[in-house]
Amino acid sequence: MMMQRIIDIYHRLVAHFGPLYGPEASSPWWPIISDRPQLEIVIGAVLVQQTRWETVEAAVVRMHAAGLLDLAALADVEAEQLAALIYPCAFYRQKASGLIALARAIQERYGDLATMLSRPTATLRTELLQLPRIGPETADVILLYAGQHPLFVVDAYTRRIFARLAPDRLAWERASYGQVQQAIAKELPSDPVLLADFHAQLNELAVRYCLVRPRCDGPPARRVYSRQPGRNSFLDRHDGCPLQAVCAWYNRKQFDGE
Ligand code: SF4
Repeated sequence: MMMQRIIDIYHRLVAHFGPLYGPEASSPWWPIISDRPQLEIVIGAVLVQQTRWETVEAAVVRMHAAGLLDLAALADVEAEQLAALIYPCAFYRQKASGLIALARAIQERYGDLATMLSRPTATLRTELLQLPRIGPETADVILLYAGQHPLFVVDAYTRRIFARLAPDRLAWERASYGQVQQAIAKELPSDPVLLADFHAQLNELAVRYCLVRPRCDGPPARRVYSRQPGRNSFLDRHDGCPLQAVCAWYNRKQFDGE
């Protein structure tokens, strides 16, 4: 079965979940609690590595209360104090020293975060990848959500979903980050709002329907993974995953009578 055009997959998701990111979203997809949204996004992008989002949100709240959603304060804090605040995020000690080194590097190289984020996309991406605790996924999250650079973010959810949708098209779970990113991004417009919303839509699909044990026919998982209001409007729907009709895994299962 040919995989549906990727933009059509996006539209099916939006029709089901509604816009999750951007001016039409009912609530901000990235919950921001301070007047420094770009720094919060950078911090969140580092903390979320191998960590549930609700754990990250709680850590960011504690950092805010300690006055650490501030680049200069973050560059000066003791690693042990920061580690205690971000515990139980995975690798909290390494992340604490990484965040401090990152804050210092941003100050020394660019002066401030806004200056850093205003650099050309390809140049900044290369520079970010040289900073502590920044791999391709973290770099792209920062570029897209903090800087509105038009990049598609690949994560484990993306790989799992596309491995089920179109297993013949790419070895999604073994392919390099760049291969997956290229395979998807080449079919999408270079629009940061759409790219950010698509990433949000795939996340929502992965935590509601396309779990490790998929809930193709529903109901959606009711896990509350963020304090954000207004994210549960579709939970009472009973029509199952919005990608059933275009999913190779689902259609093979139906054909095999499993
Ligand atoms: S139909 Fe099932 S396997 Fe396919 S994308 Fe939806 S939840 Fe995942």
